[in-house]
Amino acid sequence: MVSPTDVRTEDAGQVLRRVFGYDAFRGSQQQVVDHVVAGGDALVLMPTGGGKSLCYQIPALVRDGVAVVISPLIALMQDQVDALTAVGVRAGFLNSTQDLAERRRVEGAFLAGELDLLYLAPEGLAVRSTLQLLERGTIALFAIDEAHCVSQWGHDFRPDYLNLSMLHERWPGVPRIALTATATSATRTEIATRLQLTDARHFVASFDRPNIQYRIVPKREPRKQLLALLRDEHPGDAGIIYCLSRASVEKTAEFLVQNGVPALPYHAGLDAATRAANQQRFLREDGLVMVATIAFGMGIDKPDVRFVAHLDLPKSVEGYYQETGRAGRDGLPSTAWLAYGLQDVVQQRKMIETSEGDLAHRRNLAAHLDAMLALCETVRCRRVQLLEYFGETGSAACGNCDTCLSPPESWDGTVAAQKLLSTVFRLDRERNQRFGAGHCIDILLGKQTDKISQYGHDSLTVFGIGNELREAEWRGVVRQLLAEGLLAVEGDYGTLALTEASAEVLGRRRTVTMRREPERPASSRSAKPRGAATVVAALDPAATSVFERLRAWRAATAKEQGVPAYVIFHDATLRQIATDAPATLAELSRINGVGENKLAKYGEQILTVLAEDAAASA
Ligand code: ADP
Ligand code: ZN
Repeated sequence: MVSPTDVRTEDAGQVLRRVFGYDAFRGSQQQVVDHVVAGGDALVLMPTGGGKSLCYQIPALVRDGVAVVISPLIALMQDQVDALTAVGVRAGFLNSTQDLAERRRVEGAFLAGELDLLYLAPEGLAVRSTLQLLERGTIALFAIDEAHCVSQWGHDFRPDYLNLSMLHERWPGVPRIALTATATSATRTEIATRLQLTDARHFVASFDRPNIQYRIVPKREPRKQLLALLRDEHPGDAGIIYCLSRASVEKTAEFLVQNGVPALPYHAGLDAATRAANQQRFLREDGLVMVATIAFGMGIDKPDVRFVAHLDLPKSVEGYYQETGRAGRDGLPSTAWLAYGLQDVVQQRKMIETSEGDLAHRRNLAAHLDAMLALCETVRCRRVQLLEYFGETGSAACGNCDTCLSPPESWDGTVAAQKLLSTVFRLDRERNQRFGAGHCIDILLGKQTDKISQYGHDSLTVFGIGNELREAEWRGVVRQLLAEGLLAVEGDYGTLALTEASAEVLGRRRTVTMRREPERPASSRSAKPRGAATVVAALDPAATSVFERLRAWRAATAKEQGVPAYVIFHDATLRQIATDAPATLAELSRINGVGENKLAKYGEQILTVLAEDAAASA
């Protein structure tokens, strides 16, 4: 264990190296830490994986007293405390899951000055006895995690967060640091006001996640496409797959298991115990795939999620970015993959049309969907478009998204659009009939289907005028017209209807530029990301074998201790050990992520694993 007297006399950089084993601060961490160590208030906005925790954990060790961390994520407090304990930091938590004896033990440790950090749920602070307890100890700082929970307009609102402004009144001299990964400037202002952090210094990091490769592919046979992605690019990796419905979560998880991919389902229809058990396994075991509805993920701080896949279109760019952001917290290359097709647009438009709530609400939903569709249909760099959406302008094309890696062509789709729209027009105006996309495309392609003869649609003037495009291309045309609002879907059957804007295209007052899907979609193998720091060379075969041995050792050790594997060591650390093959404890201590405590605890074991591998391959 770290002795408290040592810690207090060290500066932040020394603590970073000795305790956490890291060489350098990342991004604005150093400025934040210095500011809080000096007693200043801070509001920190960093993307997921940006490294927010160290911003309060290091001041907690440098300043006198106990850092009190307010977090809504009760289920994850144990893991957070375990991770700190593993590096020799003295941490505890108080929340409703504990029995009285355990509570008393933590309270005693707090009062005796035996804690560096104390985690509390926000509702705990509404309890008088907790406040009285805090008043009897010395508080180093207050950290308010997931600070966007104070925002009444956000989806994570926690009423208890509103009380947190009283911290300032009760403990005027104690610095407060609020942290969040939720980006918009409106939320930021709201957080500052509600938490009375108006004098706090704001630290706003870029929201770019350069190690995540964004890819949006045309949906053909989504489960097969997904399986190919997992087999070709992510064998043995942990990942999250998001589906819209419980049924498709179940089916997808079953499909993956049948095909040899270890997968678990997670959705609101499962009982609480099963959900908790599946979440625990996902966090603790290596290489599990979680198939989930969006009910899964808040606060999941597993660092080695290598991919996030969406089998259905997310409803907003905010949601998409939050969900994909769960990939690659450890900074290693990761994939965000979304399969998207005509049916997604039809389904989402229909859901909005039939949703409860007033017109303003439906307009709001539609605006969010439009931004998401614009991202899907863009021929520009996906990352540039994402960052612009969050108000960050001026970035260069990233070189690490599908549109950068295999640029889609754009083509003049005006004539195709006119053909499709006039088909809808003729059916509607001449025959007073409405049909779905499939039938309209059959008409354009001049197919003699039963339905076409039944309705006599082969006598329409548009019959067979669309042979210059293949069926899949026509579906792309319909999808893009829907995405741009040049065509609408209606009713339970998703029939096509014209919009006001359709007339502009039909009347030749508007041209339509479309996206042609690249023949060979991008894969991460061809990626050359811009941020050189994030490029990780593939391990050579020898290092791969060591890495696998180290992973097996880590899995066994984690299981024995009942903690998640990443609490022992991160993948990035094991990779570096495998590559550098340190021969002594001194060499091992120079690896990023090997601090004093872990060196003492696991150093010899690691060297033994390395020696065994060398013997086996000799
Ligand atoms: P956030 O809370 O912002 O999502 P975390 O605090 O969980 O991010 O940090 C993300 C990951 O990056 C963690 O695994 C953490 O150990 C690692 N990390 C943070 N700061 C550094 C650093 N300076 N050097 C190396 N790794 C770091
Ligand atoms: Zn790009």
